[in-house]
Amino acid sequence: MTRATIIDGRTYAAEIRLQLANYVSELCDSHHIIPGLAIVLVGHDPASQVYVRNKHRQAQDIGMHSLVSLLSENVEEKELIDIIEGFNCNTAINGIVVQLPLPAHMDTQQILNTIDPSKDVDGLHPCNAGHLCAGSDRGITPCTPLGCLRLLRRQHPSMNGMRALVIGRSNIVGKPMAHLLVQENCTVTIAHSKTRDLLQECRRADIVIAAAGQAEMVRGDWVRPGATVIDVGINRVACQEGSGMSVLAGDVCFAEVVEVAGAVTPVPGGVGPMTVAMLLRNTLLAFLQQVGVEKGFCA
Ligand code: NAD
Repeated sequence: MTRATIIDGRTYAAEIRLQLANYVSELCDSHHIIPGLAIVLVGHDPASQVYVRNKHRQAQDIGMHSLVSLLSENVEEKELIDIIEGFNCNTAINGIVVQLPLPAHMDTQQILNTIDPSKDVDGLHPCNAGHLCAGSDRGITPCTPLGCLRLLRRQHPSMNGMRALVIGRSNIVGKPMAHLLVQENCTVTIAHSKTRDLLQECRRADIVIAAAGQAEMVRGDWVRPGATVIDVGINRVACQEGSGMSVLAGDVCFAEVVEVAGAVTPVPGGVGPMTVAMLLRNTLLAFLQQVGVEKGFCA
């Protein structure tokens, strides 16, 4: 058995950003308009700060307007809602992201419900979730599952009849991923923390999407030879006891799985960069829909 193809999300994401940047530049020249993204960060979670910085910087790099609204950990829910409603009414803002997780005193779904669905570029408003569930392309699709799908399509232009296992059932990754795979004509199983015999479920799958938030849970002997494995997990694990250092690990034991799978994504450099590229793509699409310009790109 040869080693798996390593799916390079970083390079693919850079290609998509280049296409988006060219399109934004054309829009600016021909229509004198630029898409705008607003990102709201509540509190000081270090991982969230890194994600927000990346989104903000990459939006600016492709020529979009981007602004970050930083709020204290103790902000009242009402104040956050007022800020979101301000962005809903602001025609210079076409996409709104509320970085998750929010502090425990906030009702996350109520906050997400406040975002105008046409500006909900994370695709987490119930309207957008409903469009996805109904198989309609009129909504906005969540960025991480969309990024995974793009990576999968490069490996499998047709996924007709393939068995797909999605490990994780969150609203942000697992459930939307399962809907996208059903639309690709896969036979989909959703596994979660109460699933019995996950190992056997995994061994049957042609496609595995690991999104459980459990470091290196998917081992080499869980994977069917030749399967495609997409690792969504981002976990911080300690390097050595007492060293105080940590490294990033996915939900897949890469060293083992690369010897068995047909293709696998690395962490970092797989799904993460695609998530941000899809956010920029969603923002551009939302903008085009809001200003009534025909979509002229395929990113
Ligand atoms: P979540 O905690 O909301 O959901 C985790 C899901 O995994 C739950 O449905 C739970 O039932 C399931 N699960 C937990 N332990 C399990 C086990 N032992 N066996 C089977 N299922 C189990 O997490 P999430 O927001 O969906 O994120 C999942 C992972 O993906 C996290 O590591 C997160 O950091 C990462 N993530 C990465 C990106 C990216 O851009 N790469 C984006 C979003 C999330």
